[in-house]
Amino acid sequence: MTPPATTEPRLQDKAIVKTIPLLPRGLVKRISAPYIAGESLDEAIATVRALAARGMGSTLDVLGEAISRRDEAIATRDAYLAAIEQMATLEEATPLVRNVSVKLTAVGLGIDDRLVHDNVAAIASAMAKIGGFVRIDMEDSPYTDATLELFRALRAEGHDNLGIVVQAYLKRTKADVEQLAAEGARVRVVKGIYVEPEAIAWRDMETINRNYVDLCRILAEAGCHAAYATHDDVLITGCLDLVDKLGLSPELYEFQMLLGVREGRRDDLVDQGHPMRVYVPFGAQWYEYSVRRLRENPRVAGHVARETITSWRRLLSGGRTS
Ligand SMILES: Cc1cc2nc3c(=O)[nH]c(=O)nc-3n(C[C@H](O)[C@H](O)[C@H](O)COP(=O)(O)OP(=O)(O)OC[C@H]3O[C@@H](n4cnc5c(N)ncnc54)[C@H](O)[C@@H]3O)c2cc1C
Repeated sequence: MTPPATTEPRLQDKAIVKTIPLLPRGLVKRISAPYIAGESLDEAIATVRALAARGMGSTLDVLGEAISRRDEAIATRDAYLAAIEQMATLEEATPLVRNVSVKLTAVGLGIDDRLVHDNVAAIASAMAKIGGFVRIDMEDSPYTDATLELFRALRAEGHDNLGIVVQAYLKRTKADVEQLAAEGARVRVVKGIYVEPEAIAWRDMETINRNYVDLCRILAEAGCHAAYATHDDVLITGCLDLVDKLGLSPELYEFQMLLGVREGRRDDLVDQGHPMRVYVPFGAQWYEYSVRRLRENPRVAGHVARETITSWRRLLSGGRTS
């Protein structure tokens, strides 16, 4: 299905979002099943290993954003530490499997600055001991400055196994990327998932896409490692052109996709020899994650609903694909 040319949700997507709170929990779980590795660490590790067996990296995300208490932030940190302990026992190649993504609001941002600092430092230190990497996800705009500040503070303290995310829909991002490039940061580039005010974010998809590829170019020309996190064919082609024109080696870039999304395109890129990392969310808070993501971006709800309908059709037609 061709994506709409604007980030404005379609009317049918908005209608789908309104029905989400009415859906039984079991149905939400079924709808989100392809996008979540499971509730337990064992299930997540099994997914990581299966991806590694097919030559793909992963980045584990412990579900637990939008928390409000210190003990919840500490519990999320401990879940990351448990995951890292488990990763240390895996025999698969280190860069493929020893990688996590952390949302700062899940480990204390918005509750206590010291708490979030110490929690991320603990996760980064544990990862450093096993040669692994920690990506700090980017959340909505009230947190952009605090997220960049903490990333820089931790790097200045010597945590050099940290990366950051930038959102191509934000008008400020080009300036942020120029600075991050000068600092030699490792950067994941995304369009951006949150609904942001028009004053600070572009809505027009062509502008966002142009900015996206431009950000990737700035990072590549500065010799910084960039992760092209997208399922959009226009952007994938734009990034492939960049890799080709600048002769980027696989040490300088990777593609990233969400678990369960556009697996065919993902596998094609891997077969063509491009590094690929899959975002693998897991944890007991799957319901909150699913509903939050679907509500936040009606276009995603639309994608999910359309993919679900396609799967049901496939099931009803006895597994034949059209
Ligand atoms: C690895 C990874 C990490 C991310 N981290 C962040 C982050 O830290 N902060 C942030 O704001 N955003 C993050 N995002 C989300 C990102 O900002 C986009 O919202 C998301 O990737 C959709 O944009 P797209 O570039 O894939 O293009 P789209 O045009 O939205 O999607 C292109 C096509 O991909 C398919 N598709 C896309 N999403 C889905 C889905 N959920 N289910 C089914 N099909 C889908 C559809 O076929 C669609 O037509 C991340 C995305 C990825 C892949």
